[in-house]
Amino acid sequence: MIVGIVGGGQLARMLALAGYPLGLRFLILDPSPSACARHVAELIQGAYDDHQKLKQLASGADVVTFDFENVPAKAACFLESLVPVYPPPVALEVAQDRLFEKRLFQELHIPTPPFVAVDSLEALQTAVAQLGLPAMLKTRRLGYDGKGQWLLRTSHDIPAAWQQLGNTPLILEGFIPFQREVSMLALRNHQGSTAFYPLVENQHRNGILRLSIAPYPATALELQARHYATQLLQRLNYVGLLAIEFFVLNDQLLVNEMAPRVHNSGHWSIEGAEVSQFENHLRAILNWPLGHTAAIGHSAMLNFIGELPDRNTLLAIPGVHFHAYGKTPKPGRKLGHATLRVDDPSTLQDKLAKLLTLMRQ
Ligand code: AMP
Repeated sequence: MIVGIVGGGQLARMLALAGYPLGLRFLILDPSPSACARHVAELIQGAYDDHQKLKQLASGADVVTFDFENVPAKAACFLESLVPVYPPPVALEVAQDRLFEKRLFQELHIPTPPFVAVDSLEALQTAVAQLGLPAMLKTRRLGYDGKGQWLLRTSHDIPAAWQQLGNTPLILEGFIPFQREVSMLALRNHQGSTAFYPLVENQHRNGILRLSIAPYPATALELQARHYATQLLQRLNYVGLLAIEFFVLNDQLLVNEMAPRVHNSGHWSIEGAEVSQFENHLRAILNWPLGHTAAIGHSAMLNFIGELPDRNTLLAIPGVHFHAYGKTPKPGRKLGHATLRVDDPSTLQDKLAKLLTLMRQ
């Protein structure tokens, strides 16, 4: 059985690594000849909207999935006419546009920060008057890892923000003084069976995920998150893994965004859960029984951005699992991660503090 993946980054690479023990093989489509999943999968090098290459991917695969959500909607629909494609392209379309995404949350009564669509400087000024400051100005499309965002603190920030982002449709969001950020990874297979990983706490730096701690113990929030995730999975007739990011404000969840794919905040599950997010995504899209999502012990996942730490130093620490993605170092690029897994939460905090000191993070 061959799984096709649109996008050949580290997520595709970890999907392939999870799939080999199950007897699966992988074919990836990526514009870059150095896509890091090429080490573990056959690469079709080509643009995501090149019909010939999409046909080649479809004819070589039994099922196709994605390692990022910004696949052109037309390409996803074209693929769907040739081969089973999961998650459904409609989920990509919604997740590609922050305005569509927020409207869906509203329709499902899932709390989300207040927002206004902005397509002119006047509209931005009206939106600021409506929502107040501070507020987050974001591009509706193609924003990730904090890119395409501007925090408006005072009205003096408006001209510069407009200058920088105003050439594309925008959304203004009320600024949420959240206490924490958490995420839920939810799964659904063809039969409608669902499964949920425990809630994870995430810490970002400069808009990029730096650290995830799993599980995040908060039973009431966990139930809320599962309820919201179930609504989204059902509404989208979803198949695969869906990641949902939330702000925690006064013991309530506000959804920030969703990603219709495996997610950085689920990397801990490779060593820290009974079955990893990567294996479970594959099981879901192949309509195989979903695997157990329970955490084994307590995990902290640390991203390596821009440079990798000394491998030998990390490997010498008991409980640390090191992953390097085989990418060329570049500022801001995710190059690898490590998951520290231990038996109890207090040991986790102690060992994590030592690890962070060692990494000078
Ligand atoms: P995003 O790309 O929307 O996930 O935003 C990246 C990060 O910016 C989030 O993880 C938050 O730390 C911060 N952020 C985004 N939107 C808001 C908001 N409305 N209020 C406060 N912080 C935000």
